[in-house]
This record gives sequence, structure tokens and C-alpha cells, in this order.
Amino acid sequence: MKKSVLTRVVVLLIPLFAGLGQALADEVNLYSARKEALIKPLLDQFTEQAGIKVNLVTASADALLARLKSEAKLTPADVFITVDAGRLYRAKAADLFQPIDSAVLNSAIPQQYRDPDGTWYGLSLRARPIMYVKGKLDPAALTRYEGLSDASWKGRVCIRSSSNIYNQSLVASMIAANGEEETEQWARGLVANLGRSPTGGDRDQIMAAAAGQCDIAVANTYYLATMLTDQKDDAQRMAAEKMAIIWPNQADRGTHVNVSGAGVIKYSKNRENAIKLLEFLAGDASQKWYADVNHEYPVKAGVEISDTLKAFGEFKVDSVNLATLGEYNAAAVKTMDRAGWR
Ligand code: FE
Repeated sequence: MKKSVLTRVVVLLIPLFAGLGQALADEVNLYSARKEALIKPLLDQFTEQAGIKVNLVTASADALLARLKSEAKLTPADVFITVDAGRLYRAKAADLFQPIDSAVLNSAIPQQYRDPDGTWYGLSLRARPIMYVKGKLDPAALTRYEGLSDASWKGRVCIRSSSNIYNQSLVASMIAANGEEETEQWARGLVANLGRSPTGGDRDQIMAAAAGQCDIAVANTYYLATMLTDQKDDAQRMAAEKMAIIWPNQADRGTHVNVSGAGVIKYSKNRENAIKLLEFLAGDASQKWYADVNHEYPVKAGVEISDTLKAFGEFKVDSVNLATLGEYNAAAVKTMDRAGWR
């Protein structure tokens, strides 16, 4: 009897130590600006498949950028994940990434969603269309972002603050298309049309519109899709149900999109594992997971999207390289500031 208990203890300990040995030898350290719930299950799958342990540090993108800069060569980080191209560009500009040449990444991710120098890669796609309260306006009257400055929308537009990187990237895309001067004029008109002073995040703009504070909201698609499928929060779901999407600029450059994405840290000590992780995140299963769980569009062609996204319809995407949005980020911030966009 005694012996059998001892045997059981030994049997239990063997996998424990085996796991530890593997963790020490084969791991990858990830700094992530994505919420843990929106990355951890994927990382667990990666560990299971590749036998590589992932040590996850989650914080805001700016806090992680500051940490990477101060840790410099001593950083334990191998990979940095953010939820917008603007910050990927900032990480590259701060020389925090190293270029990667991976046939897997290059074939999975279209050129416009990755850095031309190979330092960062878009992993999931989010569109930032115009939304409106059904019945409050004729969508044919608002077909372009440029139209948001039209005086007919006075007091009817809700959009979050200019400090938000999603808006900075949207304005950068407009500068890329129309130049700084015209975009500043546009931003002035937009500010004059606001139904309320910018406050809260994208969900709050949708909520405000549904509550009658404005008729038009600008927000990322996954917020609307997540609200629509929220089984626990009736208020969010009912607000979202009042909204419809306008895909802007379909007759010209297309609707503005952004990516969540990642790069390998310049001083990574687990470079091969870091590349394997990026390749895993660009793979079919991960791409499908993002689409199912957070209603994001896959960057990879041929991966199925959620039924909610399917119902939003197909649209033409602005084909500007997302690196260009990073280049125009500083100009966008200045333009919004001069236009009085708080
Ligand atoms: Fe977001």
C-alpha cells in the first residue's frame, strides 16, 4: 500500500519536472498590448503544438514601449504585440525591432499589412467605418469620411478624442489621400459637427448615438460586432442593434483599416521561437480564432469570418500601406490639434 502511494507520487512528479525542463530550454517572452483574454487561449494552443512556453506580460502599448526602451539590450522580451499600426511604427522608429524574413509570414500577410522592411507584421484586421442610427439619415447622403465635415451633420457626429491612435491613423490615411491642408479644413468641419465633446472609447460613441446624443458614430467594427453578440449586457446589444454601417469611400480609395500586429525585438534571446510564434499567429487556426472571438477580419486570405461580420457586408479596403499611416502620425496629431479636436 505504502509503495503504491510512493509510485503515484513519482508518476505525478515526472511530468512536472519534464515540463519545467522544457520551459527553461524552450520559451518565448511576449510583451502584449492586447488584453489577456484576447491572446492567452491562442498562446496556450501554441505551447501545446510547438512545445514552447510563452511568458506573457500584458500592459498598455505606451507602458510597454517605455519599458522596452529602458530595458534596451537587457530586455527579456522577444516579441511585442500592439493593437494598431501606429504603435508598431513607433516601435520600429525607436529601433526596438529586428527585420524578419519568413516565407510563411510573407505569403500569409498581404504586403500592405506589414512593414516593407520586415520589422512588423499585421496579424488581424479592423475596419473603422461610419455608423449611423437606422432611420435617422439616408446613408446615400454620407458616402465618404470627407462628408463628415458637411454642415448638414451639425451636432450629429460622435467620435472619440484625438489622443486615440485609431483616430490618428484614420486622419493619417486622410492626409495620405488629401494632404495636410485639406485634412485640417476637414477636421475643423468635423469638430464643428460634434454632438458632444469627445469622451470615452468607441463603444461609448455607439452608446451615445443609440441614446440620441448624435446620429453618426465612428468606431471600429469589432466593437459593434461584440456589442451585437453580447449575451450578458442587454443595453449594449440593444444600442448596437439600432446602428447600421456605412462603408466609406467605396467609389474611391476604400474604407480605412488598421491592424493588430507584432514584431521580433531587436535584442531577442529566443529569436527562432519568436518567429515561430508570429508564424503561428498568422496561421489559419489563429486567424480563425481572432475572427470568431473578437470579430476581427483575418489578414490572411481565405479564412472564414464570423456571421456577424458577414452580415456587415463586403467592402473595399483603403490600399495604403499601413507603414504610411505611421509616417503621417505626427502630422495627423498636429492637424487634429490645430483643428481643435480635443
Ligand atoms: Fe480597440
